[in-house]
Amino acid sequence: MGEAEQVLQEYFGYENFRPGQQEIIDNILSGNNTLGIMPTGGGKSVCFQIPAVCLTGVTIVFSPLISLMKDQVDSLKAVGIESTFINSSLTKSELKKRINQVRTGYYDLIYIAPERLRSRRFIELLDTIEVSLVVVDEAHCISQWGHDFRPAYLLIADFLDRLANKPVLAAFTATATEDVREDISEILAIQNSDIFITSFDRENLTFKLITGEDKRDFIEEYVNTNRDEAGIIYAATRKEVDNLYLFLKNKGLVVGKYHAGLSDAVRKKTQDDFVHDRIDVVVATNAFGMGIDKSNVRYVLHHNMPRDIESYYQEAGRAGRDGERSEVVLLFSPADIRLPKYFIEESDLSANRKKLAYQKLQQMIDYCYTDRCLRAYILDYFGEEDIIEECDNCSNCAEGQELVDITVKAQKILSCIYRMKERYGIGKVAKVLRGSKSKGILRLGLDELSTYGIMTDHTIKEIKNFAKFLVAEGYIHLTEGKYSVAKLTDKAYSVLQGTEKVVQKVRKETEQISTDNELFDILRKLRKKIAEEEEVPPFVIFHDSTLQDMINLMPANEEEMLAVSGVGKVKLEKYAQRFLEEINSYAQEKDIDRAARKVQSKKKKKKKAVEQQKVKSHVKTYNLYQEGQSLAEIAELRELNIRTIRGHIIKAAQEGLAVDLEPFIKDQDRQIIRKAIKKVGTAKLRPIKDELPDRVSYFEIKVMIEIMDKKL
Ligand code: ADP
Repeated sequence: MGEAEQVLQEYFGYENFRPGQQEIIDNILSGNNTLGIMPTGGGKSVCFQIPAVCLTGVTIVFSPLISLMKDQVDSLKAVGIESTFINSSLTKSELKKRINQVRTGYYDLIYIAPERLRSRRFIELLDTIEVSLVVVDEAHCISQWGHDFRPAYLLIADFLDRLANKPVLAAFTATATEDVREDISEILAIQNSDIFITSFDRENLTFKLITGEDKRDFIEEYVNTNRDEAGIIYAATRKEVDNLYLFLKNKGLVVGKYHAGLSDAVRKKTQDDFVHDRIDVVVATNAFGMGIDKSNVRYVLHHNMPRDIESYYQEAGRAGRDGERSEVVLLFSPADIRLPKYFIEESDLSANRKKLAYQKLQQMIDYCYTDRCLRAYILDYFGEEDIIEECDNCSNCAEGQELVDITVKAQKILSCIYRMKERYGIGKVAKVLRGSKSKGILRLGLDELSTYGIMTDHTIKEIKNFAKFLVAEGYIHLTEGKYSVAKLTDKAYSVLQGTEKVVQKVRKETEQISTDNELFDILRKLRKKIAEEEEVPPFVIFHDSTLQDMINLMPANEEEMLAVSGVGKVKLEKYAQRFLEEINSYAQEKDIDRAARKVQSKKKKKKKAVEQQKVKSHVKTYNLYQEGQSLAEIAELRELNIRTIRGHIIKAAQEGLAVDLEPFIKDQDRQIIRKAIKKVGTAKLRPIKDELPDRVSYFEIKVMIEIMDKKL
């Protein structure tokens, strides 16, 4: 085992490197200046923390935010690596103390804000110690084209030039449009061959797009369904944040808010409360971001569409850094396009840059309308090759989404608005359609309209929701102001004349992201208690993924605990006993069969390995089938419907993969299916099925068609 791998296991408690990590670490340890580009949550930190431990001198890390430095130093301390930070938050005496310790070579890593480089005394200090590695974290801050440009980052290059003994340089970022990437490599003198770009795929994230729904209702339901889980809800403006925050708070939910209009103290408190798991949900503008490296954010909702895919992916990427299943949901309504357009128009960008910004906005809009796999769309955008067009883990791929024709319903609503002379709000329209006998309706004589009571089979709320969908899709325009009035748009007239159909995607009900687990709650509580004792964020003690692995493996003693991902030597010593006590008493109380657990856990690992294969879903099924698993076993393992699995097999056969289809047809039915197919042809399946006894399934028919095709 190499030294780097040993550090990964001993200190961090992780079994294997994530994609890209090993190559980057090797390149740094070979003495090459290196640029690592990895998605948020990809695991950049260990790429420089491990070399820092391996190298003899100290590693200096330039980092843009005080909160980031603090969390990293806390996390390193927890795994037994000595580090510190030097920034403006320290008192004079604390600063002196740390500098003295730096001189003694006590630390492996020192985190510094780049602004420090303005102090000559500080640079002189660095001249007196052995610096092996200089790290530029969030390296896009060095580029004027990046959205987080920090002039002080430009001091880093000068500083490196001046150092007598040249240390190795490593830069990291998650945002790297081509111009930003060029800036970084030019300013920091990094050669092309030393740039490592890992895949931007975050397979633990489920991508969802919600259109044509009342956003608030959706968010309320979502947050309620996922109570106790940490989430961020991004909204476009301060005002929207304030409104949404109040709305959720009034519904009794524990939320915080964050935007640039709030005082430093309020913002700091919200961030701290969130990081320490004291509040679960923060409603925020995009000002809430870079400092958030909390690993157990389970969902990120976007109340509005961001200005480009880079921003979206960076914000959304804050979910699930620990690798556990998490969701990112974008709520889209065409009206959202106006604001980013306005921002671009009013900006002082050059004509060329404006054009580029519009292009990027258009690509963001296209994402909201695409039928493609959402993950594939994003990866394609980032220029990735060999993309799988069907991830099975986004709202466009997932099963159960049907398109329903709601033209008739839409016509009823639109014609009612027309008959009401476009003078009332949606509430009244719904009442008329429902046939309400309220005084307000009767007094105005609205019960005389031909559309009165034509939707009695729906509740007022349902009718309103349909109407809101029609607003979102641009069939109805709501006037601004206190009493917004429903007006018909040109599109509405096409529907009324019958030249345009209205379809709505029916999505599955909101489901919980992670299933309830009593033991998880117990362990989470213990983690919080320890975090409070040590005054660090809970994820510094253990990530959610580590707690989940404890639940999977149910370790009974320290040795077994060491096998849990995220438990290294120091954490074992510090925390294993307390966690083992909880796990053991739970296992005893519930009479848990630990051996069966282990089998289960193996299955889970197998499932993960299968889902991580970079091949299409049906090929994953096919591979398992070739390994000798039955279709039912595959369905169980992959947690997919048996019908889906059967479909995969047919698709594999259609694509020419070698599958022996014969065993899927019962001998007794072979002849009759063949005959039926010959008789009615293969244009449609239904007529074939009608020819046959009920016991013959569609699957068998499809299999037979394939077999007959092959024989032709
Ligand atoms: P980034 O800085 O790229 O956003 P981090 O460095 O914060 O990401 O890493 C994200 C998470 O992944 C952290 O919780 C980290 O502990 C975890 N992690 C990093 N490398 C590994 C690995 N090889 N195996 C398992 N977990 C890892």
